[in-house]
Amino acid sequence: MKVPLLDLKAQHDPIQQELLEAIAQVIQSQAFILGPDVPKLEERIASYCRAQFGIGVSSGSDALLVSLMALDVGPGDEVITTPYSFFATAGAVSRLGAKPVFADIDPLSYNLDPGKVKHKITSRTKAIIPVHLYGQCADMAPILALAARHSLAVVEDAAQAIGAEYRDGRRSCSMGTMGCLSFFPSKNLGAFGDGGMVITNDPKLAERIRVLRAHGSKPKYYHKLIGGNFRLDTLQAAVLNVKLNYLDGWTKRRRGNADQYRLLLKKSGLLERAGVVLPEAMYAGTSAVNDHIYNQFVLRVPNRDGLREFLKQEGIGTEVYYPVPFHLQECFRSLGYKEGDFPEAERAAKQTVALPIYPELTQETQREVVEKIKEFCKV
Ligand SMILES: *Cc1c(COP(=O)(O)O)cnc(C)c1O
Repeated sequence: MKVPLLDLKAQHDPIQQELLEAIAQVIQSQAFILGPDVPKLEERIASYCRAQFGIGVSSGSDALLVSLMALDVGPGDEVITTPYSFFATAGAVSRLGAKPVFADIDPLSYNLDPGKVKHKITSRTKAIIPVHLYGQCADMAPILALAARHSLAVVEDAAQAIGAEYRDGRRSCSMGTMGCLSFFPSKNLGAFGDGGMVITNDPKLAERIRVLRAHGSKPKYYHKLIGGNFRLDTLQAAVLNVKLNYLDGWTKRRRGNADQYRLLLKKSGLLERAGVVLPEAMYAGTSAVNDHIYNQFVLRVPNRDGLREFLKQEGIGTEVYYPVPFHLQECFRSLGYKEGDFPEAERAAKQTVALPIYPELTQETQREVVEKIKEFCKV
């Protein structure tokens, strides 16, 4: 059996003609830099997020970087975030000379625990970056309340959560000061390369980011700010304008696959007899349910590494997001953290594994994946 973690060919084959036509149109127009597909996509994605402004940028990482630049984050500033995310979340803070300050995660959602954030706020704190990990919004209400009380900016890292709804119905990227999206090919809306977007409801910040993404130049060759080259390619925007039409359908199928896994895993006996833990679309201690978009379907399992090796032998792709929390990364040694500082993040890094959940995955294949997990766990 061959089951990849992600199968983009299955996603692109049925719409190949449309994609090729969109690409051909850009070639015909020769408008490779900030051509009409870019503002079109910006408007459509902002509206998809139920927010006002979108600024297309070169990647999710650059979306985070330019958002923090727009807030003037720099040396002497602290930014509070999770220790359990993709590197870019904390990397953006350090690249600007500011200090990432970590707060532990909630064990159910794997997202920043607002109760832990509270204790990390100092007079130097400038912003909070909640990450909507795996496709589920972080618990924004208490985070936004804390931020308001201390006049802090909130930058949502929604790279894995385009369209995900928080328990009150608001969409990712529409709640904080800014929201950051990634169009890396493995995200729910993926380009044919790198791309990203900053979303905001603040017209001044939107304008500042627009200027910063082109070396701070406005008018051309006059620089009030020092920006960078953070532009989204027209070619990527053209591809994304086609793919956006299918996003809701793909998300629906990801949710269907998640439901199916849940059913199969509950029936399998793996939860009671092997200690497998399902992902939850809620936070510890609450019952309000979030609208999860399942960029990843992540289980906790005992002997995670053994299971991964076994599934690999069987041709089943899995991944670990992420094996080393930020506070234990070599490059952050100077921050002075040690093992044991964030027990929930450390536990998650040791116990979790992501199964294939892509939209085109069939129920039959999901059954086979669960059978193989049963075989390994001798259940
Ligand atoms: C993918 C990702 C990013 C970075 O996006 P790129 O487009 O790859 O630069 C940032 N944060 C999180 C949580 C991500 O998953």
